[in-house]
Amino acid sequence: MKTEQLTKFKQLFEEQKKGLLYSYKWVNEDFKVNADEMSDEMDLTSAELEQSMRMRLRSREAFFIKKIDEALNKIQAGTFGVCERCEEDIELSRLEVRPTTHLCIHCKEAEEIMETRSADGRKSKSVGMKGNLRSA
Ligand SMILES: [Zn+2]
Repeated sequence: MKTEQLTKFKQLFEEQKKGLLYSYKWVNEDFKVNADEMSDEMDLTSAELEQSMRMRLRSREAFFIKKIDEALNKIQAGTFGVCERCEEDIELSRLEVRPTTHLCIHCKEAEEIMETRSADGRKSKSVGMKGNLRSA
């Protein structure tokens, strides 16, 4: 990949990470305030609901931050834009849509086919188990 393209992706990731870290921090701080309030009189149900929503949001943000860090590490290591499976270059058009992807479109498609197949396999397996239970 050209240096100018790498620089462009690096800037994109750094911008995204900055935005994520900001909201990540905000969610954590806000959550702390609410946790303190909970010791006073407060509707526990809505507090618990809010807490689980924040937890979910936090784990989602943490997941994206991790993805971005991985991509930034790859830029540093010079392996960004290389498919982890077949080691071919990932299509630039694909990277522009999904910059944190680690598989080229061919490997991704192959993976999706595998996932569909194993999902089918699970289904028939569970039917078989049910049969076993019935005979037992
Ligand atoms: Zn590939």
